[in-house]
Amino acid sequence: MCDYSRRLVAWLDREMQGDEASEMERHVAVCAECRNGAAEFDRVSGAFEDYCEALAQTKDQRKGIRVRQFSGRQRRRLCWH
Ligand SMILES: [Zn+2]
Repeated sequence: MCDYSRRLVAWLDREMQGDEASEMERHVAVCAECRNGAAEFDRVSGAFEDYCEALAQTKDQRKGIRVRQFSGRQRRRLCWH
């Protein structure tokens, strides 16, 4: 288990900044485990966002339009409430 994998999600969600973010970027470039983790995260969150958007649009047209204005993490958060 890679030490960086715990921080991978924070990095992917763009919660990291500056040196920490660039360190993570360099690490992912050389670490297969973290690259796989990133690909998996992309796949899962992408599918989830599509699902969210479809759900929001079916439920309430106006909410669907609003959901589309948000970025990934916010969109996922919106969907839970
Ligand atoms: Zn790693």
